Amino acid sequence: MKKTIWLLSLSLLLSLSLFLTACGKQDEDAKDEASVPEPEFTCPLDGEELSSAEDHGDSVFMVSIDNGAGAAPQSGLNAADLLIELPVEGGINRFLAFYYHNQPDTIGPVRSARHYFYDIVKGYNATQTHCGGSSMAYDIIDSGSVQDIDEMACSSNFWRSSERSAPHNLYTSYELLSKKAADRGYPTVSLADCPGFRFYSNAERGKLTFGGVSELTIPYRYQEAAYRWDELNLNYVRYSGGKIHTDALDNKALTADNVVVLYIDYVVMEDGSHLDMTFTSGSGLLLQYGTVTEINWSISKGNGFSFTETATGKEVQLIPGKTIIQVAKTTETATYTEPEAEEDTTAEGAE
Ligand SMILES: [Zn+2]
Repeated sequence: MKKTIWLLSLSLLLSLSLFLTACGKQDEDAKDEASVPEPEFTCPLDGEELSSAEDHGDSVFMVSIDNGAGAAPQSGLNAADLLIELPVEGGINRFLAFYYHNQPDTIGPVRSARHYFYDIVKGYNATQTHCGGSSMAYDIIDSGSVQDIDEMACSSNFWRSSERSAPHNLYTSYELLSKKAADRGYPTVSLADCPGFRFYSNAERGKLTFGGVSELTIPYRYQEAAYRWDELNLNYVRYSGGKIHTDALDNKALTADNVVVLYIDYVVMEDGSHLDMTFTSGSGLLLQYGTVTEINWSISKGNGFSFTETATGKEVQLIPGKTIIQVAKTTETATYTEPEAEEDTTAEGAE
């Protein structure tokens, strides 16, 4: 009886191996994707696998980072769990970089805060990190309603690089910020307390096919931001003013798995310089894996950004990895390559 079972198993194995040999590489790839286990714990901001529920920092820090002339290359943009680019004065933009499970040892150049940054800070129960700010930003800081680390008040948690000129030379690290937050007794942020996005599972991600949109550009006044598809790494490479945007910390190009264009209306205030905007809800676009989806966005205190598909009202799924949110005025409409339009052009050319 045992021998019969053994022979039966052997014949099954032989058939299986013949079957597998007959299968193409595509099937082997599919098998590999299917065998990637689903992680038990993931970072709410980037969907990356965590080894345990405690595998992240004690706080979510949001650092105001320079993106004007003299700022590049910044340090720690690639290491950010979530990155937002938004306008300040004179057509210049600034980055708001979030750190939670990723804890880089160099972050900067750190710049000043604006009052509207705190709409986003409050959404994530985050601690805002900056050097100075507008008078309206200080109205919020002085009210004591936010967790805030200002270099003006605690310079020992920052350092200035002698290799660059001020104000583009101020840096900090997750460790230095974490120490300051602990000194002040700021509440810690557990995995359950950190608002996050809905991500594709490994199995779902393995089934995605490239949608054909290889480039998207946001026509910011000072310096346009563009994302171009990288066939090798299956993500988008960021270009600023036509050049690849690199990170000084890892010497790599800044990349994104998901690019959200978040449209918002804002006005120049009476001083003729500072902007006024309020983050509550609006429309936008999501670019991921060659597909652009029209979305609606919203944010409120304790509830980070939520993105829903305009057509269905369903929450969108993000690809695990880096999400960059591009805040743009409603008139700064993003443009992107249309795969269908390209086919039409070829057809016309063939006639
Ligand atoms: Zn993360």
